[in-house]
Amino acid sequence: MKNSSDYFQQLDQEDVLHQYRDMFFIPKNKNNNDLIYYCGNSLGLLSKQANAAVKQELDDWATYGVEGHLEAKYPWVKYHEFLCEPMAEIVGAKPKEVVMMNGLTTNLHLMMISFYRPTKTRHKILIEFSAFPSDRYAVESQIKFHGYDPNESLIILKPSSKNGYITIEQIQEILKTEGEEIALVLIGSVNYYTGQAYPISQITKLAKSYGANVGFDLAHGAGNLDLKLHEDGPDFAVWCGYKYLNGGPGCIAGCFVHERHHDDNNLPRLSGWWGHDKVSRFKMGSKFEMMIGAEGWQLSNPPILAMAALRESLLLFQKAGINNLRTKSIRMHNLLANLLREWAHPNINIITPEKDDEKGCQLSIQLKQPDKKIFNSLIENNIIGDWREPDVIRIAPVPLYNCYSELFIFYNSLKRIIENHG
Ligand SMILES: *Cc1c(COP(=O)(O)O)cnc(C)c1O
Repeated sequence: MKNSSDYFQQLDQEDVLHQYRDMFFIPKNKNNNDLIYYCGNSLGLLSKQANAAVKQELDDWATYGVEGHLEAKYPWVKYHEFLCEPMAEIVGAKPKEVVMMNGLTTNLHLMMISFYRPTKTRHKILIEFSAFPSDRYAVESQIKFHGYDPNESLIILKPSSKNGYITIEQIQEILKTEGEEIALVLIGSVNYYTGQAYPISQITKLAKSYGANVGFDLAHGAGNLDLKLHEDGPDFAVWCGYKYLNGGPGCIAGCFVHERHHDDNNLPRLSGWWGHDKVSRFKMGSKFEMMIGAEGWQLSNPPILAMAALRESLLLFQKAGINNLRTKSIRMHNLLANLLREWAHPNINIITPEKDDEKGCQLSIQLKQPDKKIFNSLIENNIIGDWREPDVIRIAPVPLYNCYSELFIFYNSLKRIIENHG
């Protein structure tokens, strides 16, 4: 019986990732019951390992002071290197193609300095409609910074009217007419509103065939999708550390630069001492000698406490295996989507694509008669999702700490709330 609490509990018992939930602090309500936390797409939860790792760094700071740069258990001077390999594995890159630094929007700017180099004939940037506002602000300011006008240089890809999705044919169409004028294609994956995951490989090939540079904002993709950045070949990608990656609020962000650009001395970049060749960095010479690889884009020595939490979290991803995580994630998503589709209430419309390779964890439930009270009632029922104006409830069951039984509880709560809604 698929439509029963027993069935979902059975799935939990058979879950090969079952033990990971206990490694996390699950937020609780006033009565000390676990909340159903479906907000990992916004702020992932704290693991006990990450908690201990931050304490370790505080202790090493207390014990060693400045000597911690070399004497700490994980010496601070090369701390970012501990993150390159596990992070690279998660996004399908080579370790030297990945570095954790700054925040996402900062990294996006740094990447555009190198990969958005407009000329009179080729100055446009193509982004998707309903791109996250920060990306839009960053892109517009880069266009203006180079002396161009966003009204002419910014092309916004609007979803096809039917289902709100962006199709590869649409991108093809725009490139056919404006491709020679497009300097940069910048796409997010997964789309934060619909939950649609875009085909990175196809978009990259297409953009490249028109001579455009191509980058991805993987804020909702890293730690969620099974990515293959090296193979798919975009010029760059950026993502944040606090959503699916569970690095903690405001955590340091990710940056991927494809290997083919690593020793290109002609690529403009903004430099700082942490991007300087590490062998001679502390000779403090006046001439910048760039480090080969994504590390060469670093500016400052990084925040160790934020990195400590992220390092342990990435190790959990590595241990669990991105394939296992992805399998469970898709399974959870489909179980819930199927329950909702079978229920077929007229006020409910699932706007996330049905096909497995077109989605991640996130399930976007559109209310045909939008009323935020429905969302508020979910909170009263111990369910933490989030609300996207004007009409969408976003739910992100993540495979590391969410379990199958929660899906059935969520489904029943939503059903009860909507059926009792006036
Ligand atoms: C979360 C998110 C951001 C946030 O930017 P920060 O620089 O980390 O504050 C930006 N873009 C997208 C697409 C996001 O999902």
